[in-house]
Amino acid sequence: MIIKKFSKLRDVSICRKMDTRQLTALRDDRLRKMINHAYRSTVFYKNLMNDAGIKPADIRTAKDLVYLPTISKADIQERYTDIISDRFNEKDCLVRTTSGSSGKMLRVLWEKDSFLTRISMYYRCLSMIGYTPFKKLLYFLPTPEKTGFTFGLFRQRGLEPKMPFMDIRKNLLEFKPDILAIYPSYAVELGSYLSSDDIDRIGIKAISLNSEMILPHDQAEIERKFKCPTYSEYSSVEMGFIASMCKKKKIHTFNDNVVLEILDSDGNPALPGERGEIVLTSLTNYAMPFIRYRIGDYSHFSKQNTCSCGLHFPVIGPIEGRKDDSFVMANGRSIPAWKIYEIVERPLEEFGMDKMVLSDFYLVQRKIDMANFFYVKGPDFHDSYLSKLEEGIQSLFGNDLSVNIREMDNIDRVKTVKRKYIHRDII
Ligand SMILES: [Zn+2]
Repeated sequence: MIIKKFSKLRDVSICRKMDTRQLTALRDDRLRKMINHAYRSTVFYKNLMNDAGIKPADIRTAKDLVYLPTISKADIQERYTDIISDRFNEKDCLVRTTSGSSGKMLRVLWEKDSFLTRISMYYRCLSMIGYTPFKKLLYFLPTPEKTGFTFGLFRQRGLEPKMPFMDIRKNLLEFKPDILAIYPSYAVELGSYLSSDDIDRIGIKAISLNSEMILPHDQAEIERKFKCPTYSEYSSVEMGFIASMCKKKKIHTFNDNVVLEILDSDGNPALPGERGEIVLTSLTNYAMPFIRYRIGDYSHFSKQNTCSCGLHFPVIGPIEGRKDDSFVMANGRSIPAWKIYEIVERPLEEFGMDKMVLSDFYLVQRKIDMANFFYVKGPDFHDSYLSKLEEGIQSLFGNDLSVNIREMDNIDRVKTVKRKYIHRDII
């Protein structure tokens, strides 16, 4: 097992040193294998390719992907069992549900081997911003997962954001992390709690921001407060690590793990500099192939595809992804998005990372004292989720905000902004 881990880490790290030609060849080789595999072992892609009049051999390079239709999260929700490869048993896979943060929820299977690749890629993201063996990482996750992948070299500590700030401060002062991995709305709030002297004593060298879209003024505020640069990474449960920022603040897409296309509004490849929808094909998850998957985020390819950091992974512009809102109460109190995730998403996770309690939700503040929570039941739904949610609502908002909870068959028609799941929409 240890040897396997090292070899994954080595594979991932070799790609860092490849030039554009080598990376493109590797990507296309992996793509051909994946297309072949998906055609031969899933009902979904066999039908999809047959309907499109395409044989696996027709897809030779990433450019040929345009011959295939794109797929959405809703397509996968509907045809879930057909998309899973018949070469894999669910019991031999790691199962994760996408969090509410990515909208409609999906159960995603990962073969264990590809999961190791994924973890290796996380270290690659961190190493791009200065993480090396023996440095210390502190990360915040609602449910810290034990990766068991540190070889004792990478010292890390996972904390849950719900911990009282006093305890978090104590951990920071004692552990003195070199790198902090955190979501932006939480970093802003944590920053306001720590004094300048605390920050000096902790001595963080770099911050990796994840999960949410980062607004420039929040980023500037976090850098000012923590006195260090911030970098963003782009990952998802479905695809693993998609892209990450290097020390030069360029976002490199990992084309050894995914084929990242950007399509214009007509579905054609966007030109460099032209904003479009991101469409992803996984090159590493054989248990549940994702081919031309519309993840719901937007970006553009950089006109200048080189970076002085030395990496040859293609450069893209900022990711326009999820941006959730804070809620505002009548007394002026602002409730940041991360606190709202805690009451909505934490109870979901308590049922197990592999359970799909809800298949979609939308929490929208309509008035200063009123919000709606719309949800669609998932296959693992249990009434106790609603009681936990109600408890959370009561403890977070008290009497300031009443939340009407309503089950729906489909949420899309009540949503006014497509990519928001926590939305302030006060008229
Ligand atoms: Zn770079």
